[in-house]
Amino acid sequence: MFVYADNAATTCVSKTALDAMMPYLTNMYGNPSSLYSFAQEAKEGLDAARKTVADCIGAEPREIYFTSGGSEADNQAIISAARVGAKKGKKHLISTKFEHHAVLHTLDKLKKEGFEITLLDVHEDGVVRLEDLKEAVRDDTALVTVMFANNEIGTVQPIKEIGAFCREKGIPFHTDAVQAAGHMHIDVNEMNIDMLSMSGHKFHAPKGVGVLYAKKNMPLLNVIEGGAQERGKRAGTENMAGIAALAAALKESCDAIDENTEKIIPMRDKLFAELSKIPHSKINGSLEYHVPGTVNMCFEGIEGESLLLMLDANGICASSGSACTSGSLDPSHVLLSLGLPHEVAHGSLRLSIGEYNTMEEIDHIIEVVPKVVDYLRNMSPVWDELEKGTRPHLI
Ligand SMILES: *Cc1c(COP(=O)(O)O)cnc(C)c1O
Repeated sequence: MFVYADNAATTCVSKTALDAMMPYLTNMYGNPSSLYSFAQEAKEGLDAARKTVADCIGAEPREIYFTSGGSEADNQAIISAARVGAKKGKKHLISTKFEHHAVLHTLDKLKKEGFEITLLDVHEDGVVRLEDLKEAVRDDTALVTVMFANNEIGTVQPIKEIGAFCREKGIPFHTDAVQAAGHMHIDVNEMNIDMLSMSGHKFHAPKGVGVLYAKKNMPLLNVIEGGAQERGKRAGTENMAGIAALAAALKESCDAIDENTEKIIPMRDKLFAELSKIPHSKINGSLEYHVPGTVNMCFEGIEGESLLLMLDANGICASSGSACTSGSLDPSHVLLSLGLPHEVAHGSLRLSIGEYNTMEEIDHIIEVVPKVVDYLRNMSPVWDELEKGTRPHLI
């Protein structure tokens, strides 16, 4: 049996998205910036996609900028707010310890340019606290950026409250909503969000296309210079096929959020209930404030990488952290931010399911994981010491 349980890394392209992109890959190849009527069809498609995306998050079409993905949207939002703030003498930026690297590495770059960065702690439940943010803000804070839902552990942050606080203080607020868009209801006005990033391939559009929402009073700077596309804020001939697919996939996902959640939650709950029966296992974060499909657990005494290879041999695609950090042997910064010891963080498993998964697939995972964990523990010298009591159990 083949089970794709890595939807937080990327998702399959839906039929709706594929159908939406086909015209732009075949007969409708005009450049939306050209003046003749043949190209105007593409321009109309672009306008329609922008309106669709805006409607999905309660924004206005002119507040939607298409990008090459979530990473670019994060870069542009943060760099814009930082440089605009610096002109007014504001060189302090606030974020959290468990952001995606698209955010953390952008902040690192700005730090080298003289910005001061405060990264908020994440509590053991995988949620940051508004009180911590209140203590961190300063008169020279130029931006607060806090992710909507974490990509490794799935926990959802108090976005509306953070947004309200930032608005009261007059500080721009950005959220990386890549894991939430299409999976949770988002209204940028109701949630007091000034800027928001999304990525098509996390909700069944293809890879390489994303969105930056920026409220109309937010000054945006270019990170890609060139032509006057996207109201002069993002140069480059539009990825028409990708944009049309993103809009169609986002609408399809947003229209079905409640239905999909109802389908996914029982699968996730069963997965968690069964896997937590494995001795010396624990959930990372908590399931209280959570996107529907992501479960992240640690199993003491094993290596996440070995676990993944054995799951792969059993047809199961999963992840030990984010796809971006795999390949490096450092434990995930997200799990360390929760206060997990290194050796425990190494034994982590992220399963992220979606509406395309079935209960039969969940049963397959539930059958395979305990066996594999047992097998690996039996070979592990660390597990041996834990069992003999010469090394203390940490979970
Ligand atoms: C996937 C992801 C990104 C990066 O999006 P790309 O479109 O792959 O560049 C950024 N942030 C989060 C939280 C993600 O999960």
